Amino acid sequence: MSIVIGSDHGGWELKEFLKIYLENNKYHIEDIGCYDTESVDYPDVANLLVQNILAKKSDKGILICGTGIGMSMAANRYKGIRAALCNEPMSARLSREHNNSNVLVLGGRTLGKDMALDIMKTWLMTPFSGERHARRLAKIEEAGKDSQNNRKTDQVIKKETNGNIHSKSLAEVDPEMAKAIQQETQRVFYTLEMIASENFCSEAVLEAQGSILTNKYAEGYPAKRYYGGCEYMDVIETLAIERAKKLFGSEHVNVQPHSGTQANVAVFFSVLKPGDTILGMQLSHGGHLTHGSPANLSGKYFQVVPYGVDRKTETIDMEQVRNLAKAHQPKLIIVGASAYPREFDWKTFRQIADECGAFLMADIAHIAGLIAADLHSSPVPYCDFVTTTTHKTLKGPRGGVIMCKKEFAPKIDKAIFPGTQGGPMMHTIAAKGVCFKEAFSKEFKAYQQQVISNAKVIAEEMQKGGFRVVSGGTDNHLVLLDLTSKGISGKEAEEALDASGITVNKNAIPFDTKGSRITSGIRIGSPAISSRGMKEPEMTYISSLIKDVLNNIGDKITYKKIKKSVKELCIRFPVYQSRLDKPL
Ligand SMILES: *Cc1c(COP(=O)(O)O)cnc(C)c1O
Repeated sequence: MSIVIGSDHGGWELKEFLKIYLENNKYHIEDIGCYDTESVDYPDVANLLVQNILAKKSDKGILICGTGIGMSMAANRYKGIRAALCNEPMSARLSREHNNSNVLVLGGRTLGKDMALDIMKTWLMTPFSGERHARRLAKIEEAGKDSQNNRKTDQVIKKETNGNIHSKSLAEVDPEMAKAIQQETQRVFYTLEMIASENFCSEAVLEAQGSILTNKYAEGYPAKRYYGGCEYMDVIETLAIERAKKLFGSEHVNVQPHSGTQANVAVFFSVLKPGDTILGMQLSHGGHLTHGSPANLSGKYFQVVPYGVDRKTETIDMEQVRNLAKAHQPKLIIVGASAYPREFDWKTFRQIADECGAFLMADIAHIAGLIAADLHSSPVPYCDFVTTTTHKTLKGPRGGVIMCKKEFAPKIDKAIFPGTQGGPMMHTIAAKGVCFKEAFSKEFKAYQQQVISNAKVIAEEMQKGGFRVVSGGTDNHLVLLDLTSKGISGKEAEEALDASGITVNKNAIPFDTKGSRITSGIRIGSPAISSRGMKEPEMTYISSLIKDVLNNIGDKITYKKIKKSVKELCIRFPVYQSRLDKPL
């Protein structure tokens, strides 16, 4: 966060004191004066600071004069400025939560240094809570919209941007869209995201994803492009490829698939012909749509033989896989799932593939992060092809990747381009490269470890509460709950939790007797809440909230109470906080 700070002579001493804290805590600060105790006029300082913020040079401002009163009067004359004069931390907190204050005003002669520091720290840490408050803020702006300073503000903005639409912010160009994005940011901040396939990527990944690379066409591959101007595209794609190769120990990597589905389609396109037989895990047993579901291209173009889990252990029935492979002689065997809480036995799958002469493909979309951190065995040594998404446990941008043995490299690259895709999304490829780099860090490994520990706590706590956990527990980032004995459907559970601020998805359980729109289960994931820094104690608490909701289906008062507890917890573990403060 960048801060512009200013004072008159009455606030100079406090300004110098607060700057030490800001510098030590890595805030980017701009000091616009004054620079000693010689007398200056506070409106001059306030005006200068306001211009800085309106021109978007800094995110927030701090103003100090003798009492803070003159500075707040001067700053609040401007549209878009919400200066809050605070004398204790509670006002500072509420000025952020309710008023989205973007300037903090302090009294150099009325506050002790420790109190001033407390106030500033609270103010910096607290996000805007949006919702009904946003409506009220809009009314403040509406009331002042015809003032002279307002016109002056518009002139400043116009000058800074040359009146060029390309330089305008999203909020200025498209307020409707900006508002919906802001509302989603608030939803994410104040609710528990527990969909197993979702996660929160880093600010660095977001920055790459939102970069100007979105403009560039780079059909082809590094050094073999069909367009000019690709020298930096080559650098970017090569960085991403080399990092992925090293991270997963793969001989060849293609980073261009737009999604996990595109990655799978390209593998099919590379070695299969329509009508060939494929062996894949049944959707209702945890498999993925693209592994042979009748509704998907994979089910329409190929002869699909589904395998599943053993009724008793609820783990993959390897004897069944072997027998089906022997009987049907598939050309491709697919291993991987979207709702399977246990480890895969890659080695035995390889033996079975060799016995029937099939290609072997692993789809690690869900568990790629765990594999990158060495917390789940890797399929790379055993498989001809490994596909993945980059946005699930791997914590990258939305997208896909294909890894393969060197001998398949030309086929795979051709299957992506020109086989099934056109130009690559270079902004996403850059973001993939960033996420691979992050995946080499100690923090990433610790994070993935926490993801697993957190899922285990949830499984144990739910079992203690009398809920049946499919396969009796979890080895990875997800828990599959069977709600049959509780007399509720997955759909009912999903809706009740949604109303309580906890987002999960209904999910079929193996041998489910209910349809796919109702289901008997829910899938609970730990990746996103772990990205917020939540650990075992929070998992125990969250599990108690989930149990409370599921034991009180239909009770709106419970939902409301839980939603409030969820919100309080979320405030303690912020995510994308700086994005909450964007003006509406
Ligand atoms: C999520 C997932 C995919 C598909 O990813 P998209 O990017 O949504 O196309 C493919 N395979 C498995 C196993 C998945 O879980």
